[in-house]
Amino acid sequence: MSIFRQKALEEIGCRETKPMFVEPTPASKEFGINVFDRPTMRKYLSPEAYNAVASAVDENKKIDRKIADQIASGMKTWALERGATHYTHWFHPFTDATAEKHESFLDRAKDGSVFEGFSGNALVQQEPDASSFPNGGLRNTFEARGYTAWDPSSPAFVFDQTLCIPTIFVSYNGEALDQKTPLLRSIQALDKAAAEICRYFDRDVQRVNSVLGIEQEYFAVDEALVRARPDLQLTGRTLLGHIAAKDQQLEDHYFGAIPPRIMSFMKEFETEAYKLGILLRTRHNEVAPNQYECAPLYEEANLAIDHNLLLMTLMQRVAAKHNLKVLFHEKPFAGVNGSGKHCNWSMITDKGVNLLSPGKTPRSNLQFLTFFVSTIRAVFEHHHLLMSSVMSLNNSLRLGASEAPPAIMSIFTGSTLAETLNSIVERVSDKKMTPTEKTELKLDIVGKIPEILLDNTDRNRTSPFAFTGNRFEFRAVGSSSNCALPMMALNAAVAQQLIRFKAEADALMAKDIKKDEAIFQVLRKFIEESHTILFEGNGYSEEWKNEAAKRGLRRVENTPSAFKAFVEKPSIDLFTAIGVMTEDELHARYEIFNEIYVKKIQIEARMVGDLAINHVVPTAIRYQSHLIKNVTGLKEILSREEFAELATPQLQSIKKIGGYIKNIRQQVHTLVEERKKANSIEEFPERAKAYTEKLLPYMKEIRLNADKLERIIDDEMWPLPKYRELLFVR
Ligand code: ADP
Ligand code: MG
Repeated sequence: MSIFRQKALEEIGCRETKPMFVEPTPASKEFGINVFDRPTMRKYLSPEAYNAVASAVDENKKIDRKIADQIASGMKTWALERGATHYTHWFHPFTDATAEKHESFLDRAKDGSVFEGFSGNALVQQEPDASSFPNGGLRNTFEARGYTAWDPSSPAFVFDQTLCIPTIFVSYNGEALDQKTPLLRSIQALDKAAAEICRYFDRDVQRVNSVLGIEQEYFAVDEALVRARPDLQLTGRTLLGHIAAKDQQLEDHYFGAIPPRIMSFMKEFETEAYKLGILLRTRHNEVAPNQYECAPLYEEANLAIDHNLLLMTLMQRVAAKHNLKVLFHEKPFAGVNGSGKHCNWSMITDKGVNLLSPGKTPRSNLQFLTFFVSTIRAVFEHHHLLMSSVMSLNNSLRLGASEAPPAIMSIFTGSTLAETLNSIVERVSDKKMTPTEKTELKLDIVGKIPEILLDNTDRNRTSPFAFTGNRFEFRAVGSSSNCALPMMALNAAVAQQLIRFKAEADALMAKDIKKDEAIFQVLRKFIEESHTILFEGNGYSEEWKNEAAKRGLRRVENTPSAFKAFVEKPSIDLFTAIGVMTEDELHARYEIFNEIYVKKIQIEARMVGDLAINHVVPTAIRYQSHLIKNVTGLKEILSREEFAELATPQLQSIKKIGGYIKNIRQQVHTLVEERKKANSIEEFPERAKAYTEKLLPYMKEIRLNADKLERIIDDEMWPLPKYRELLFVR
């Protein structure tokens, strides 16, 4: 056995479950102690400064520079008390990770004395030298100006002795170089469109928030095993490896007892998360062995996403202390379930009404139906864009690949609501309705929606977009991704339909049709236009693929084609009309997504070549030599007939091994040649296409041959930790 694999297994054998680093205190006691939240602001800021922040958050008001100095000063005092030595603007470039550049608070005064300072300017805006972030042509490197600007709607926090200030990241011209800027714009667009519709039902509604509860799935594997797997280290997934005899077929992992080592890790990251104001609620084992999930209580979408990204960083840090490595990759192991980031999304008014929750009265239910149906219409209209918004190299292994559900968008509503929608189409007509008809409609259809749908919606786990009682759950989002992109697309798409809804209803009302009837008529129209997106059956089945094609629903063919969705006309129209992204920003994203995709495949292709040639082939040759020695020995001691009988299996193995070695060498060679060819293609979108068509198939083939060798070769010799170890040693 290779030293690494052997050492890893020995090391794990000696591991003790570490006691938690921090003794658990009642979670609520330390909740948010590292966050500069409103109660803390009240303590550290003057009323004037506090109000400035509050109205920046609540009413999008600008903060005056002088006041910014005051805010910075209060923030600094608090951060120093919390042990911070540095501060940083904290933002989301296009890397799925967050970015930070720390500055010490230390400064020198004119008289030479040293003090801790933090000015309003440093709080509000910075210009990190950001020339190395992907920017898709929005910025030439020689004028590499990128600015980070404070986002007061996500409170500053202290993490690892650093005051972190959530910011947006924009170019000199104000174009978004990050994921947060368009997300914030989409949240505003949805707020405006939704609030206007709400006022049909309640004149006092001022604001509507999109809220989000993010379920995060992940694998946790001993760090020593990861160290012995260069592919896991560099790409986050196994590029080789035969499936284990046992994986998830007994379904004994899901909701099982959490293993003690993992439990201790979970408790510690939860405790730390509470201090950062992340209200984690749920933890459990997931379907695949060594796969787990955690979920916080839902909150405003912008905050939920910041918290999710912070949580991922935090989990990785805490895991290291427990000699664990968290794998956020969507498909770290072939053949077992992948990981997602289920986005539970809904809209809530400033009066606390969930617009996707059926209410007690026909009136509140009509409001519910308006938002419910507009969301369906939005998902229908932009189904291809929405499915595309979750595609990446990683997630393509989970969606749309050979063993994964197809990448087709559909919505599961549950039977009760499916019936409600049908009745609306059947009963509402274009003609003016009589008062009796209207009353009947309200009582029969709208009045009959049960208030608690939660237990009514049988859970269809195969739907990429399911209604689960009081929210939609977008399940196709990948576990490693920043879900700002799909949430931005969803917010924008829904805002567009709400605007349309209002325009159509208003037009009917202008023709003297009463409000409720006008709403009913638009509802019917929207349902008729979009019902093909509704699907209650098995989304993983072959029949659905055909059925969806018949219905005219577009399937995402491959990842580069998904990126294209952002620069197709309907998407450009959507984002520019709603004011979420400009055409240039969209084209930049298109470039960036392709660039990242190409680079990721490039890394994987190099890695798989290395593994095959430097690990697998030499091991295969060594084992083959063993067999040859054995056969030569047998020849010496056996009669001709005996030899013919007893040496045949070994001879066959020798040849088989030879065959696999030959295949691997050829395939690696071709892979390298194809890569060279593809790399000569100038434009990233074209190169991405070549990488998909010309490289991925060889990588698959190499794996196939290497995995065959893994099954033949002496376990003692095999250099890489095997699936059974990665998935079951804990
Ligand atoms: P599941 O049973 O689907 O696995 P979980 O309990 O793991 O559900 O997670 C559900 C998530 O949905 C939580 O983050 C929860 O706070 C969130 N959630 C609940 N209600 C809403 C809502 N109205 N809007 C958005 N998110 C919600
Ligand atoms: Mg869950």
